Amino acid sequence: QDAFSAAEIRAQFPVLQTRAHGYPLAYLDSAASTQQPLTVIQAVSDYHRLHHANIHRGVYQLSQTATRLYEEARASVARLLNAAEPAECIFTRGTTESINLVAASWGRANLKSGDEIILSVLEHHSNIVPWQLAAEATGARIKVVPMNDAGELDLDAYRALLSARTRIVAVNHVSNALGTINPVREMIAAAHDAGALVLIDGAQWVAHGRTDVRELDADFYAFSGHKLYGPTGIGVLYAKRHLLDSMPPYQGGGDMIEQVTFAKTTYAAIPSKFEAGTPNISGAVGLGAAIGWIDGIGFDGVSAHEQALLGYATERLEQIPGLEIKGTAHAKSSVISWVMRDPPVATLDVGTQLDLQGVCIRTGHHCCQPLMDRMGVSSTARASMGIYNGREDVDRLADALLGIVSAVRKRGPASVSRIAPS
Ligand code: PMP
Repeated sequence: QDAFSAAEIRAQFPVLQTRAHGYPLAYLDSAASTQQPLTVIQAVSDYHRLHHANIHRGVYQLSQTATRLYEEARASVARLLNAAEPAECIFTRGTTESINLVAASWGRANLKSGDEIILSVLEHHSNIVPWQLAAEATGARIKVVPMNDAGELDLDAYRALLSARTRIVAVNHVSNALGTINPVREMIAAAHDAGALVLIDGAQWVAHGRTDVRELDADFYAFSGHKLYGPTGIGVLYAKRHLLDSMPPYQGGGDMIEQVTFAKTTYAAIPSKFEAGTPNISGAVGLGAAIGWIDGIGFDGVSAHEQALLGYATERLEQIPGLEIKGTAHAKSSVISWVMRDPPVATLDVGTQLDLQGVCIRTGHHCCQPLMDRMGVSSTARASMGIYNGREDVDRLADALLGIVSAVRKRGPASVSRIAPS
């Protein structure tokens, strides 16, 4: 095992000390949502107990403190992403809202009939549907980058899709369903050569490695706080200043204006222009604390630990009879998807049986139905690991899967839902 102390880190997560069905929790669903360390819980709690007030317009000290905490969180986000300035980091509800913001604001202002939007077959529905809405409203068309059977995007096909008609490319940095790490830097450079902008859905990357939007030269970068050991209901849209300056507001309301009359309204400068209404102040504070916390651990350690764990989990799952791993890309984050073929066991049954032994995984289409169609399955079972996981979690998973296989072999597939946990 690597030098990184997952046990020490795990001890900082109250929920990981709880039990499910009488078993210690083996939490293997961090791609859906990470758990929160005490530091984050404490920061949110302190904010509520001691510092809460509405921000930006208060003349009194408490409001100014709340404003400072909110803006400090934005500065933390800018450091995490290496943005040129905090104003380029807009707080949203999450990745979904960040992408909707770009598709609605930039999309409707810039797309027209005959223009093309390039997505990939690996996308989450939240990086498909907003573009379909924008395409329907403007007459633009969507093109899709295919992948090989390992779950890697076909870069030759991607380059062939790029043309003078391409206005924007929207792809994920890491696939939530398969774990594939996409060569986004190369993809961004190719898109820029073709004169197109690029949005990166970073939901599944930011917790796993260093992010540098300027080195990537990303035009837009989106992520969610709750996949980075922070709270739900808070996320970020990074965009280059000149793009944000030229985009129309996404929503109208308080805090995003300069001057309002019934004849005409002028808008505030960024980031306020894109943050109408009272934002999720405590969520931002929690996200800022999460960024500070993970920074203290360091992404080199995070990545080495997770890659070692991924290697171990892959080895153990490969030894399970009839289990087929979906997504065998050369570069992967700490996600393993699989189906059980022989004996066949429905993924829902797998998830339910694992739950009875305190092992939390996700089953289903993972909001990636086009990807499931491409792979010829309707669902997969998915285990995803965070920095608090250790080999014991992987062993619990693999041992339970072996138990399922032997029970089904003994009693037949119809009996799977009656297998008692050992
Ligand atoms: N994109 C990817 C790749 C994701 O994994 C997710 C969350 N599963 C999302 C977008 C949407 O994130 P959120 O639900 O936090 O808006």
